[in-house]
Amino acid sequence: MSLVVAKFGGTSVADFSAMNRCADIILANSNTRVVVVSASSGVTNLLVELTQANVNDQRRMALLTQIAQVQYDIVDKLERPQDVAATIDKLLSRMSVLSDELVLDRSKAIIDELLSMGEQCSSLLFSAVIRQKGTPSSAFDVRQVLRTDSHFGRAEPQIESIASLAAEHLAPLLNEQVIVTQGFIGADSEGRTTTLGRGGSDYSAALLAEALKADAVEIWTDVAGIYTTDPRLAPNARPIPEISFNEAAEMATFGAKVLHPATILPAVRQKIQVFVGSSKAPEQGGTWIRHQVEEVPVFRAVALRRDQTLLNLHSLQMLHAQGFLAETFATLAKHKISVDLITTSEVNVSLTLDKTGSDSSGQGLLSESLLQELSQHCRVRVEDNLALVAIIGNKIASTAGICSRVFSVLENHNVRMICQGASPHNLCVLVAESEAADVVNSLHQNLFE
Ligand code: ADP
Ligand code: ASP
Ligand code: MG
Repeated sequence: MSLVVAKFGGTSVADFSAMNRCADIILANSNTRVVVVSASSGVTNLLVELTQANVNDQRRMALLTQIAQVQYDIVDKLERPQDVAATIDKLLSRMSVLSDELVLDRSKAIIDELLSMGEQCSSLLFSAVIRQKGTPSSAFDVRQVLRTDSHFGRAEPQIESIASLAAEHLAPLLNEQVIVTQGFIGADSEGRTTTLGRGGSDYSAALLAEALKADAVEIWTDVAGIYTTDPRLAPNARPIPEISFNEAAEMATFGAKVLHPATILPAVRQKIQVFVGSSKAPEQGGTWIRHQVEEVPVFRAVALRRDQTLLNLHSLQMLHAQGFLAETFATLAKHKISVDLITTSEVNVSLTLDKTGSDSSGQGLLSESLLQELSQHCRVRVEDNLALVAIIGNKIASTAGICSRVFSVLENHNVRMICQGASPHNLCVLVAESEAADVVNSLHQNLFE
Protein backbone atom coordinates (compact mmCIF):
# COMPACT_ATOMS: atom_id res chain seq x y z
CA MET A 1 0.00 0.00 0.00
CA SER A 2 1.34 3.44 -0.73
CA LEU A 3 1.63 5.97 2.05
CA VAL A 4 0.93 9.69 1.99
CA VAL A 5 1.90 12.11 4.76
CA ALA A 6 -0.35 15.19 4.71
CA LYS A 7 0.49 18.42 6.50
CA PHE A 8 -2.06 21.11 7.32
CA GLY A 9 -0.85 24.61 8.17
CA GLY A 10 -2.25 27.09 10.68
CA THR A 11 -5.07 28.54 8.58
CA SER A 12 -6.11 25.02 7.53
CA VAL A 13 -6.70 24.07 11.17
CA ALA A 14 -7.76 27.53 12.36
CA ASP A 15 -11.20 26.48 13.59
CA PHE A 16 -13.80 23.71 13.52
CA SER A 17 -15.03 24.30 9.98
CA ALA A 18 -11.49 24.54 8.58
CA MET A 19 -10.63 21.26 10.34
CA ASN A 20 -13.73 19.66 8.83
CA ARG A 21 -12.69 20.65 5.31
CA CYS A 22 -9.26 19.17 5.93
CA ALA A 23 -10.72 15.96 7.33
CA ASP A 24 -12.63 15.56 4.04
CA ILE A 25 -9.38 15.92 2.10
CA ILE A 26 -7.78 13.20 4.23
CA LEU A 27 -10.70 10.83 3.98
CA ALA A 28 -10.84 11.22 0.19
CA ASN A 29 -7.51 9.36 -0.08
CA SER A 30 -7.21 6.12 1.85
CA ASN A 31 -3.41 6.26 1.50
CA THR A 32 -3.25 9.29 3.78
CA ARG A 33 -2.38 7.65 7.10
CA VAL A 34 -0.18 10.27 8.74
CA VAL A 35 -1.38 13.80 9.28
CA VAL A 36 0.92 16.53 10.56
CA VAL A 37 -0.66 19.70 11.90
CA SER A 38 0.46 23.20 12.80
CA ALA A 39 -1.00 25.12 15.69
CA SER A 40 -4.31 26.81 14.86
CA SER A 41 -3.74 30.09 13.05
CA GLY A 42 -2.22 32.79 15.27
CA VAL A 43 -1.64 30.55 18.30
CA THR A 44 2.14 30.24 17.87
CA ASN A 45 2.38 34.03 17.57
CA LEU A 46 0.47 34.39 20.85
CA LEU A 47 2.77 31.80 22.48
CA VAL A 48 5.84 33.64 21.19
CA GLU A 49 4.54 36.83 22.78
CA LEU A 50 3.96 34.91 25.99
CA THR A 51 7.64 33.89 26.05
CA GLN A 52 8.95 37.45 25.74
CA ALA A 53 10.73 38.89 28.76
CA ASN A 54 8.73 42.11 28.77
CA VAL A 55 5.12 40.83 28.99
CA ASN A 56 3.39 42.02 32.14
CA ASP A 57 0.97 39.93 34.21
CA GLN A 58 -2.12 41.51 32.74
CA ARG A 59 -1.00 40.84 29.18
CA ARG A 60 0.00 37.30 30.13
CA MET A 61 -3.50 36.60 31.39
CA ALA A 62 -4.99 38.10 28.24
CA LEU A 63 -2.76 35.94 26.01
CA LEU A 64 -3.63 32.76 27.92
CA THR A 65 -7.33 33.58 27.67
CA GLN A 66 -7.06 34.22 23.93
CA ILE A 67 -5.24 30.91 23.36
CA ALA A 68 -7.81 29.04 25.48
CA GLN A 69 -10.64 30.63 23.49
CA VAL A 70 -9.32 29.24 20.19
CA GLN A 71 -9.29 25.73 21.70
CA TYR A 72 -12.70 25.96 23.40
CA ASP A 73 -14.33 27.29 20.23
CA ILE A 74 -13.39 23.97 18.62
CA VAL A 75 -14.10 21.74 21.64
CA ASP A 76 -17.60 23.23 21.96
CA LYS A 77 -18.48 22.20 18.40
CA LEU A 78 -17.50 18.55 18.84
CA GLU A 79 -20.23 15.95 19.25
CA ARG A 80 -18.21 14.37 22.08
CA PRO A 81 -16.36 17.25 23.74
CA GLN A 82 -15.82 15.05 26.80
CA ASP A 83 -13.25 12.97 24.82
CA VAL A 84 -10.78 15.84 24.65
CA ALA A 85 -11.86 18.58 27.09
CA ALA A 86 -9.89 17.24 30.07
CA THR A 87 -6.65 16.92 28.07
CA ILE A 88 -7.10 20.41 26.58
CA ASP A 89 -7.62 21.78 30.10
CA LYS A 90 -4.44 20.04 31.23
CA LEU A 91 -2.47 21.55 28.35
CA LEU A 92 -3.89 25.02 29.08
CA SER A 93 -2.95 24.82 32.75
CA ARG A 94 0.53 23.60 31.80
CA MET A 95 0.83 26.73 29.58
CA SER A 96 -0.03 28.87 32.55
CA VAL A 97 2.51 27.09 34.81
CA LEU A 98 5.25 27.38 32.18
CA SER A 99 4.60 31.07 31.63
CA ASP A 100 4.82 31.60 35.42
CA GLU A 101 8.10 29.68 35.53
CA LEU A 102 9.52 31.85 32.76
CA VAL A 103 9.25 34.92 34.97
CA LEU A 104 11.95 33.46 37.23
CA ASP A 105 13.87 31.25 34.85
CA ARG A 106 14.21 32.25 31.20
CA SER A 107 15.37 28.80 30.20
CA LYS A 108 15.25 27.94 26.50
CA ALA A 109 13.88 24.50 27.38
CA ILE A 110 10.87 26.09 29.07
CA ILE A 111 10.35 28.43 26.11
CA ASP A 112 10.30 25.49 23.69
CA GLU A 113 7.88 23.51 25.80
CA LEU A 114 5.57 26.51 25.89
CA LEU A 115 5.86 27.06 22.13
CA SER A 116 4.97 23.41 21.51
CA MET A 117 1.54 23.76 23.13
CA GLY A 118 -0.27 25.06 20.03
CA GLU A 119 0.53 21.92 18.04
CA GLN A 120 -0.26 19.69 21.03
CA CYS A 121 -3.77 21.17 21.20
CA SER A 122 -4.50 21.26 17.47
CA SER A 123 -3.44 17.61 16.92
CA LEU A 124 -5.73 16.42 19.69
CA LEU A 125 -8.68 18.40 18.34
CA PHE A 126 -8.11 17.50 14.70
CA SER A 127 -7.99 13.81 15.52
CA ALA A 128 -11.36 14.18 17.27
CA VAL A 129 -12.80 15.83 14.16
CA ILE A 130 -11.67 12.87 12.02
CA ARG A 131 -13.19 10.38 14.48
CA GLN A 132 -16.42 12.34 14.38
CA LYS A 133 -16.57 11.52 10.65
CA GLY A 134 -16.52 7.81 11.46
CA THR A 135 -12.84 7.05 10.74
CA PRO A 136 -10.62 5.64 13.49
CA SER A 137 -7.95 8.17 14.40
CA SER A 138 -5.71 9.05 17.32
CA ALA A 139 -3.35 11.83 18.23
CA PHE A 140 0.25 10.66 18.44
CA ASP A 141 2.94 12.47 20.41
CA VAL A 142 5.60 13.14 17.76
CA ARG A 143 8.21 13.55 20.51
CA GLN A 144 8.33 9.74 20.69
CA VAL A 145 9.94 9.69 17.24
CA LEU A 146 11.11 13.14 16.14
CA ARG A 147 14.48 13.07 17.88
CA THR A 148 16.55 16.25 17.69
CA ASP A 149 19.68 17.65 19.28
CA SER A 150 19.27 19.99 22.27
CA HIS A 151 19.56 23.26 20.38
CA PHE A 152 16.30 24.68 21.73
CA GLY A 153 14.50 27.06 19.38
CA ARG A 154 16.22 25.68 16.30
CA ALA A 155 16.82 22.03 16.95
CA GLU A 156 18.55 19.81 14.42
CA PRO A 157 16.67 16.58 13.59
CA GLN A 158 18.63 13.34 14.03
CA ILE A 159 17.69 11.54 10.83
CA GLU A 160 18.80 8.00 11.72
CA SER A 161 17.20 8.01 15.15
CA ILE A 162 13.96 9.34 13.64
CA ALA A 163 13.91 6.48 11.11
CA SER A 164 14.38 3.77 13.73
CA LEU A 165 12.00 5.34 16.27
CA ALA A 166 9.32 5.82 13.59
CA ALA A 167 9.69 2.20 12.46
CA GLU A 168 9.28 1.05 16.04
CA HIS A 169 6.56 3.34 17.38
CA LEU A 170 4.70 4.89 14.45
CA ALA A 171 4.65 2.47 11.51
CA PRO A 172 2.80 -0.30 13.43
CA LEU A 173 -0.10 2.08 14.14
CA LEU A 174 -0.84 2.97 10.54
CA ASN A 175 -2.85 -0.04 9.36
CA GLU A 176 -5.78 0.58 11.61
CA GLN A 177 -6.20 4.33 11.77
CA VAL A 178 -5.28 7.83 10.67
CA ILE A 179 -2.54 9.16 12.93
CA VAL A 180 -2.57 12.88 13.65
CA THR A 181 0.64 14.31 14.99
CA GLN A 182 2.37 17.61 15.67
CA GLY A 183 4.55 19.56 13.29
CA PHE A 184 7.27 21.95 14.48
CA ILE A 185 8.18 20.08 17.68
CA GLY A 186 10.50 17.25 18.68
CA ALA A 187 12.40 16.00 21.69
CA ASP A 188 16.06 15.59 22.54
CA SER A 189 17.62 12.39 23.88
CA GLU A 190 16.59 13.36 27.40
CA GLY A 191 12.96 13.71 26.34
CA ARG A 192 12.94 17.52 26.61
CA THR A 193 10.70 19.29 24.10
CA THR A 194 12.46 21.14 21.28
CA THR A 195 11.24 23.18 18.30
CA LEU A 196 12.53 23.33 14.72
CA GLY A 197 12.15 27.07 14.09
CA ARG A 198 9.16 29.05 12.81
CA GLY A 199 7.25 27.45 9.97
CA GLY A 200 8.88 24.11 10.83
CA SER A 201 5.79 21.92 10.40
CA ASP A 202 6.46 21.48 6.68
CA TYR A 203 9.90 20.16 7.63
CA SER A 204 8.37 17.79 10.22
CA ALA A 205 6.07 16.32 7.57
CA ALA A 206 8.96 15.73 5.19
CA LEU A 207 11.08 14.19 7.97
CA LEU A 208 8.31 11.77 8.93
CA ALA A 209 7.69 10.91 5.27
CA GLU A 210 11.39 10.15 4.89
CA ALA A 211 11.46 8.03 8.04
CA LEU A 212 8.36 6.06 6.98
CA LYS A 213 9.51 5.84 3.33
CA ALA A 214 6.25 7.44 2.22
CA ASP A 215 5.38 7.89 -1.44
CA ALA A 216 4.29 11.50 -1.20
CA VAL A 217 4.07 14.48 1.12
CA GLU A 218 1.13 16.83 0.74
CA ILE A 219 1.44 20.37 2.07
CA TRP A 220 -2.07 21.79 2.44
CA THR A 221 -2.07 25.54 2.96
CA ASP A 222 -4.04 28.67 2.05
CA VAL A 223 -2.86 28.99 -1.59
CA ALA A 224 -3.37 26.57 -4.48
CA GLY A 225 0.30 25.69 -4.90
CA ILE A 226 3.59 27.46 -5.40
CA TYR A 227 3.06 30.59 -7.47
CA THR A 228 5.36 32.57 -9.74
CA THR A 229 5.64 34.96 -6.80
CA ASP A 230 3.78 35.50 -3.52
CA PRO A 231 0.16 36.02 -4.68
CA ARG A 232 -0.31 38.46 -1.80
CA LEU A 233 2.29 40.72 -3.41
CA ALA A 234 1.44 40.35 -7.08
CA PRO A 235 -2.20 39.74 -7.97
CA ASN A 236 -1.20 38.36 -11.37
CA ALA A 237 1.00 35.63 -9.92
CA ARG A 238 0.09 32.21 -11.32
CA PRO A 239 0.37 28.74 -9.81
CA ILE A 240 3.19 26.55 -11.14
CA PRO A 241 1.87 23.05 -11.96
CA GLU A 242 5.23 21.28 -11.71
CA ILE A 243 8.62 22.36 -10.39
CA SER A 244 11.93 20.60 -9.75
CA PHE A 245 13.37 19.90 -6.31
CA ASN A 246 16.24 22.29 -7.05
CA GLU A 247 14.00 25.19 -8.01
CA ALA A 248 11.61 24.61 -5.11
CA ALA A 249 14.51 24.44 -2.66
CA GLU A 250 15.86 27.75 -3.97
CA MET A 251 12.41 29.34 -3.70
CA ALA A 252 11.97 28.16 -0.13
CA THR A 253 15.48 29.28 0.82
CA PHE A 254 14.94 32.70 -0.68
CA GLY A 255 11.72 33.45 1.12
CA ALA A 256 8.72 31.75 -0.52
CA LYS A 257 7.08 31.17 2.85
CA VAL A 258 4.78 28.53 1.39
CA LEU A 259 7.52 25.96 2.16
CA HIS A 260 9.93 25.88 5.08
CA PRO A 261 13.45 26.01 3.57
CA ALA A 262 14.48 22.59 4.90
CA THR A 263 11.37 20.76 3.62
CA ILE A 264 12.92 19.66 0.37
CA LEU A 265 16.02 18.00 1.91
CA PRO A 266 14.33 14.82 3.21
CA ALA A 267 12.20 14.64 0.06
CA VAL A 268 15.32 14.73 -2.12
CA ARG A 269 17.10 12.11 0.00
CA GLN A 270 14.23 9.65 -0.46
CA LYS A 271 13.00 10.96 -3.85
CA ILE A 272 9.55 11.62 -2.36
CA GLN A 273 7.22 13.77 -4.45
CA VAL A 274 5.80 16.81 -2.70
CA PHE A 275 2.41 18.33 -3.48
CA VAL A 276 1.36 21.83 -2.42
CA GLY A 277 -2.32 22.75 -2.55
CA SER A 278 -5.07 24.77 -0.92
CA SER A 279 -7.15 23.14 1.80
CA LYS A 280 -9.87 25.71 1.04
CA ALA A 281 -10.01 24.79 -2.64
CA PRO A 282 -8.52 21.33 -3.17
CA GLU A 283 -10.35 21.07 -6.51
CA GLN A 284 -8.04 23.78 -7.92
CA GLY A 285 -5.11 21.35 -7.83
CA GLY A 286 -1.67 22.67 -6.97
CA THR A 287 2.03 22.22 -7.52
CA TRP A 288 3.95 18.95 -7.77
CA ILE A 289 7.59 19.13 -6.76
CA ARG A 290 9.51 16.34 -8.47
CA HIS A 291 12.98 15.18 -9.24
CA GLN A 292 12.45 15.44 -13.01
CA VAL A 293 10.09 17.93 -14.64
CA GLU A 294 9.12 18.39 -18.25
CA GLU A 295 9.48 22.13 -18.51
CA VAL A 296 12.66 23.92 -17.36
CA PRO A 297 12.16 27.63 -18.11
CA VAL A 298 14.92 30.20 -17.61
CA PHE A 299 12.63 32.24 -15.34
CA ARG A 300 10.46 30.27 -12.92
CA ALA A 301 9.59 32.61 -10.05
CA VAL A 302 10.53 35.63 -7.96
CA ALA A 303 10.98 35.23 -4.22
CA LEU A 304 11.22 37.87 -1.52
CA ARG A 305 12.87 37.61 1.85
CA ARG A 306 12.33 40.61 4.08
CA ASP A 307 14.15 41.75 7.18
CA GLN A 308 17.69 41.12 6.01
CA THR A 309 20.82 42.19 7.82
CA LEU A 310 23.98 43.13 5.96
CA LEU A 311 27.29 42.94 7.79
CA ASN A 312 30.12 45.00 6.36
CA LEU A 313 33.53 43.98 7.59
CA HIS A 314 36.52 46.20 6.88
CA SER A 315 40.10 45.27 7.64
CA LEU A 316 43.45 46.27 6.21
CA GLN A 317 44.67 42.81 7.22
CA MET A 318 42.70 41.53 4.26
CA LEU A 319 45.08 43.10 1.77
CA HIS A 320 47.22 40.34 0.22
CA ALA A 321 46.73 38.25 3.35
CA GLN A 322 45.27 34.84 3.97
CA GLY A 323 42.90 33.57 6.58
CA PHE A 324 40.67 36.61 7.21
CA LEU A 325 37.55 34.92 5.86
CA ALA A 326 38.38 31.67 7.67
CA GLU A 327 38.61 33.58 10.95
CA THR A 328 35.36 35.46 10.28
CA PHE A 329 33.47 32.31 9.33
CA ALA A 330 34.81 30.45 12.36
CA THR A 331 33.48 33.21 14.63
CA LEU A 332 30.08 33.13 12.90
CA ALA A 333 29.95 29.33 13.08
CA LYS A 334 30.74 29.43 16.78
CA HIS A 335 27.63 31.60 17.20
CA LYS A 336 25.63 29.17 15.05
CA ILE A 337 25.09 31.71 12.29
CA SER A 338 25.16 30.67 8.68
CA VAL A 339 26.18 33.17 6.08
CA ASP A 340 23.89 33.68 3.17
CA LEU A 341 25.26 35.92 0.43
CA ILE A 342 28.76 37.25 0.28
CA THR A 343 30.69 39.77 -1.82
CA THR A 344 34.27 40.87 -1.36
CA SER A 345 36.52 43.75 -2.42
CA GLU A 346 40.09 44.73 -1.62
CA VAL A 347 39.67 45.35 2.10
CA ASN A 348 35.95 44.77 2.64
CA VAL A 349 33.65 41.81 2.90
CA SER A 350 29.87 42.19 2.86
CA LEU A 351 27.68 39.37 3.91
CA THR A 352 24.03 38.80 4.65
CA LEU A 353 22.93 36.59 7.49
CA ASP A 354 20.59 33.71 7.01
CA LYS A 355 17.51 34.55 9.07
CA THR A 356 16.04 31.12 8.44
CA GLY A 357 18.46 30.13 11.14
CA SER A 358 16.81 32.36 13.72
CA ASP A 359 15.04 30.57 16.51
CA SER A 360 11.37 29.83 17.18
CA SER A 361 10.95 32.60 19.71
CA GLY A 362 12.23 35.12 17.18
CA GLN A 363 15.48 35.97 18.95
CA GLY A 364 17.77 38.06 16.77
CA LEU A 365 20.89 36.60 15.25
CA LEU A 366 23.31 39.39 16.08
CA SER A 367 24.22 39.12 19.72
CA GLU A 368 26.43 41.66 21.48
CA SER A 369 29.04 38.99 22.10
CA LEU A 370 29.23 38.11 18.40
CA LEU A 371 29.69 41.76 17.40
CA GLN A 372 32.38 42.20 20.02
CA GLU A 373 34.24 39.14 18.84
CA LEU A 374 34.12 40.25 15.21
CA SER A 375 35.24 43.76 16.18
CA GLN A 376 38.46 42.30 17.55
CA HIS A 377 39.75 41.63 14.05
CA CYS A 378 37.90 44.10 11.83
CA ARG A 379 35.64 47.16 11.75
CA VAL A 380 32.00 46.06 11.70
CA ARG A 381 29.09 47.99 10.24
CA VAL A 382 25.55 46.61 10.39
CA GLU A 383 22.85 47.65 7.90
CA ASP A 384 19.21 46.76 8.48
CA ASN A 385 15.92 47.43 6.68
CA LEU A 386 16.97 45.47 3.63
CA ALA A 387 15.17 42.84 1.59
CA LEU A 388 16.48 40.15 -0.68
CA VAL A 389 14.78 39.57 -4.02
CA ALA A 390 15.71 36.33 -5.79
CA ILE A 391 14.95 35.44 -9.38
CA ILE A 392 14.67 31.68 -9.54
CA GLY A 393 15.02 29.64 -12.69
CA ASN A 394 17.31 27.42 -14.72
CA LYS A 395 20.61 27.99 -16.54
CA ILE A 396 20.62 31.55 -15.21
CA ALA A 397 24.39 31.61 -15.08
CA SER A 398 24.81 30.34 -18.64
CA THR A 399 22.06 32.12 -20.57
CA ALA A 400 23.04 35.31 -22.39
CA GLY A 401 21.06 38.50 -21.83
CA ILE A 402 19.62 37.71 -18.40
CA CYS A 403 21.44 40.46 -16.52
CA SER A 404 20.57 43.17 -19.01
CA ARG A 405 16.90 42.15 -18.86
CA VAL A 406 16.85 42.16 -15.06
CA PHE A 407 18.82 45.38 -14.69
CA SER A 408 16.65 47.25 -17.17
CA VAL A 409 13.71 46.49 -14.86
CA LEU A 410 15.71 47.69 -11.87
CA GLU A 411 17.04 50.89 -13.44
CA ASN A 412 15.12 53.12 -11.05
CA HIS A 413 16.06 51.21 -7.91
CA ASN A 414 19.17 51.30 -5.80
CA VAL A 415 20.60 47.79 -5.70
CA ARG A 416 22.71 47.41 -2.57
CA MET A 417 24.27 44.05 -3.45
CA ILE A 418 24.08 41.50 -6.30
CA CYS A 419 24.87 37.80 -6.19
CA GLN A 420 24.86 35.52 -9.18
CA GLY A 421 26.86 32.59 -10.42
CA ALA A 422 27.12 30.23 -7.47
CA SER A 423 24.01 28.37 -8.55
CA PRO A 424 22.49 28.02 -12.03
CA HIS A 425 19.11 28.52 -10.37
CA ASN A 426 19.19 32.05 -8.96
CA LEU A 427 20.14 35.68 -9.26
CA CYS A 428 19.74 37.74 -6.08
CA VAL A 429 19.60 41.45 -5.42
CA LEU A 430 19.52 43.19 -2.07
CA VAL A 431 17.36 46.33 -2.00
CA ALA A 432 15.87 48.68 0.59
CA GLU A 433 12.94 47.08 2.41
CA SER A 434 10.76 50.04 1.38
CA GLU A 435 11.32 49.28 -2.33
CA ALA A 436 10.99 45.51 -2.09
CA ALA A 437 7.34 45.14 -3.08
CA ASP A 438 7.86 47.45 -6.07
CA VAL A 439 10.93 45.55 -7.20
CA VAL A 440 9.10 42.20 -6.98
CA ASN A 441 6.12 43.54 -8.89
CA SER A 442 8.22 45.11 -11.64
CA LEU A 443 10.27 41.94 -12.06
CA HIS A 444 7.16 39.78 -12.08
CA GLN A 445 5.45 41.97 -14.66
CA ASN A 446 8.45 42.00 -16.91
CA LEU A 447 9.46 38.36 -16.65
CA PHE A 448 6.11 36.59 -16.29
CA GLU A 449 3.14 38.70 -17.39
P1 ADP B 1 0.84 27.57 6.43
O1 ADP B 1 0.33 28.21 7.68
O2 ADP B 1 -0.17 26.73 5.73
O3 ADP B 1 2.16 26.86 6.64
P2 ADP B 1 2.22 29.85 5.34
O4 ADP B 1 1.62 31.17 5.69
O5 ADP B 1 3.43 29.41 6.07
O6 ADP B 1 1.07 28.75 5.41
O7 ADP B 1 2.56 29.83 3.77
C1 ADP B 1 1.57 30.17 2.82
C2 ADP B 1 1.81 31.59 2.34
O8 ADP B 1 3.04 31.65 1.65
C3 ADP B 1 0.81 32.10 1.34
O9 ADP B 1 -0.34 32.62 1.96
C4 ADP B 1 1.60 33.14 0.57
O10 ADP B 1 1.30 34.45 0.96
C5 ADP B 1 3.04 32.86 0.93
N1 ADP B 1 3.91 32.74 -0.25
C6 ADP B 1 5.10 33.35 -0.41
N2 ADP B 1 5.62 33.07 -1.59
C7 ADP B 1 4.76 32.25 -2.23
C8 ADP B 1 4.76 31.62 -3.52
N3 ADP B 1 5.75 31.78 -4.39
N4 ADP B 1 3.71 30.84 -3.82
C9 ADP B 1 2.69 30.66 -2.96
N5 ADP B 1 2.64 31.24 -1.74
C10 ADP B 1 3.65 32.02 -1.37
N1 ASP C 1 3.17 26.74 14.43
C1 ASP C 1 4.53 26.97 14.00
C2 ASP C 1 4.68 28.39 13.49
O1 ASP C 1 3.71 29.13 13.45
C3 ASP C 1 5.00 25.99 12.97
C4 ASP C 1 4.27 26.01 11.64
O2 ASP C 1 3.17 26.55 11.54
O3 ASP C 1 4.81 25.47 10.68
O4 ASP C 1 5.77 28.79 13.16
MG1 MG D 1 4.15 27.60 6.86
